[in-house]
Order: sequence, then C-alpha cells, then structure tokens
Amino acid sequence: MTTSSEFIAVNEPLLDGNEKAYLAQCIDTGWISSEGPFVAEFEQRFARRVGRKHGIAVCNGSVALDAAVAALRLGPGDEVILPTFTIISCAAAVVRAGAVPVVVDCDPHTWNMDVDQVRARIGPRTRAIMPVHLYGLPVDMDPLMQLARENGLAIIEDAAEMHGQTYKGLPCGSFGDISTFSFYPNKHVTTGEGGMIVTDSDELAERCRSLRNLCFVAGRRFVHEELGWNFRMTNLQAALGLAQLERLDEFAARKRAMGARYRDLLGDLVDIELAPAQTDYASSIYWVFGLVLKDSVDFDAAEAMSRLARLGVGTRPFFWPMHEQPVFRRMGLFADDRHPVAERIARRGFYLPSGMALRPEQIERSAIALRQILS
Ligand SMILES: *Cc1c(COP(=O)(O)O)cnc(C)c1O
Repeated sequence: MTTSSEFIAVNEPLLDGNEKAYLAQCIDTGWISSEGPFVAEFEQRFARRVGRKHGIAVCNGSVALDAAVAALRLGPGDEVILPTFTIISCAAAVVRAGAVPVVVDCDPHTWNMDVDQVRARIGPRTRAIMPVHLYGLPVDMDPLMQLARENGLAIIEDAAEMHGQTYKGLPCGSFGDISTFSFYPNKHVTTGEGGMIVTDSDELAERCRSLRNLCFVAGRRFVHEELGWNFRMTNLQAALGLAQLERLDEFAARKRAMGARYRDLLGDLVDIELAPAQTDYASSIYWVFGLVLKDSVDFDAAEAMSRLARLGVGTRPFFWPMHEQPVFRRMGLFADDRHPVAERIARRGFYLPSGMALRPEQIERSAIALRQILS
C-alpha cells in the first residue's frame, strides 16, 4: 500500500512475468549453474533480438567489457578512445588490459561522446573506439563507424543502457565488432547481476567463450595456454533474463511513457536542462530520467539530491568523469585533460526515480518535489 510519505526508490525492477515460473524450473530440475539450459536459450534469443550471430552470457556488464578488450587482444601500447563521461567499467577494462584510455568530452545536449573530438584524438597507436550510449540516446554512430572504417579501428560498443533502443532503425548492440550489455536491476532487462557480449564474428565469440570460462582447452581439462576468468552466468540468472526479454517491447514502451510523463510535468521548468526526447537518429528510451541544473540554480546536484531525499524522493548523481578519477590520476593518466562539458554535467546532473516498477503517482510526486526545491 502506498502512502504519500513513502520513500520513492530511484529504481525498482518489475518481476511479475514468467520470472517465478522459470526460477522454479531451475530449482525443480536442479540446474542452477552455468551448465543449465536457460543460459544457451537466453544467449540465442538475446543475440537474435539485437540482430547478432552470437551471444555470450557473462556475470555482469563490467566484465563483458573486460572480455571484449581481451578478445580483441588490446594491450600495452594500444590506445582506446572512449568518453570521459561514463561508468568506470569502460576505462577500467582498458587499463586492466595494459592499454591506454584516451578520453573525449561529451556533447552538451545529448551527453553522449562528441564524435568530432574522437576524430581529433585518433593517432598512430589508436586501435579501438569504445562508444557508450548514455541515459537514453545512442551515440551518433554513422560518423563514428566511418571513422573506424577509415582508420582500421575496432568498435567496442557499450550498449549496457540500451536494450530495445535503435539507431536509425538498427538495434543498439548491432554496431560493434563486439557489443556489450548489462542486466543490472536498473537496466531494461535484468538478471539481478548479469551481462551479455554479442558479436557476428565466430572467432571473437569463441575467444569470449573461452575467456569467460578460465580458458579451459578441450581435451586437456586443467592445462591452460592463456589466462581467462570465471565470468559465467548461472541458469538462475538466465531464467530471469529470458522472462524479462519476453517483455522488452513492453518495457521499452513503459520507459518511453515515463519519460514523456516527466517531460509533461517538468518541461516548463526554466532551471533545468533535459536531453532531447528525439534526435534525427533515435527517440530517447529513457534508461533513466536525467536532468542538469542550469547555472541559474545556486546549488549543485549533491545539494539538490539531499533536498529531494528529505522530500522522500530517491535520486542518483550523474557519472563522474574518468579524467577526474583519483585512481586514474594517481596512475598518471589524464594529467592534462580538461573536458568542461563532462565536468559541468557531473556536478550539476542527476536522475529522478526511473525504475521499471515506477507508478504514475510516484512520477507526479517526484516532479512536484523537484519543483518545490527549485522554487
Ligand atoms: C550498468 C553499466 C555498465 C556495467 O554493468 P554492470 O552489470 O553493473 O557491471 C557498463 N556500462 C554502462 C554504460 C552501464 O550503464
């Protein structure tokens, strides 16, 4: 039962489809490990959904990136260009492989990586570009794909937030040599923890499968030529994933309706900036409903979020730029980098409750609370 004083969680997943039934099958049959039948079925269905030949399920979206970087054999001396405004998993995968992350600023309107800046940073050591589609809109892929083609660069597409989204009608996750997804509970399809690597390359798929499974070699079970990881997804996770995937169209429509409702309620506020609902290549899928406080507001996102929490509204800050991460600065990375757009939105941006289970009255209460703190 809802009361008007109930705290509105920033994210609550919706698990009222076949989740329980499929999980019960796991328990009833005893198949709970990665050897269970839901894993392969989830991989195949998910890959088909994004128009790819192979799907390789893993235990989260961060390690999907680690496997992608390793599968492409990126290492010392190689540079990978990625947005500074993203989750640390992207840069961490590059750094852990011994390669060098080169970061670019984001577009002030879409908050996605600025493709012109990518062009400017391509050099003799550049081997790959890692576009990350953020918050609802995809990166402008056409010019990026052209850059990659012209310069012989691999694309690692992080589509963790883009289940069900398209770019010019083609599924996000269909652009990379390797593309990755996350199934964390705030994603449009959740398995609790989980991730997926998709690719059309037989060779890269085989390598990802091997890296996911400790690089076991057929025939000589415990003899290894290479180091892998245990990144396997369990049958329990895949059971959830299948049930969620069945509803992806409905979920995407739900998120778009939430975004539209928030816009109706907040569109006239002069003190906030929103990413466009629509560009010439996509309509926002509203992974989350993000906003940036304009300079007319005399407090920052942290203060706004604590005021909203006092009004019972859960929020999350925007990502913190990679070039401002203490861990990377201590490694000597990004010493001369300045990326004013990312620096600004990191300090002034946050998102409102956006989970799949969010109810209309909770959207209204969140919007009223935002108006209140800005008035
Ligand atoms: C959520 C997310 C990830 C990481 O996924 P986990 O499953 O939480 O490890 C990677 N990239 C982006 C853009 C994400 O939003």
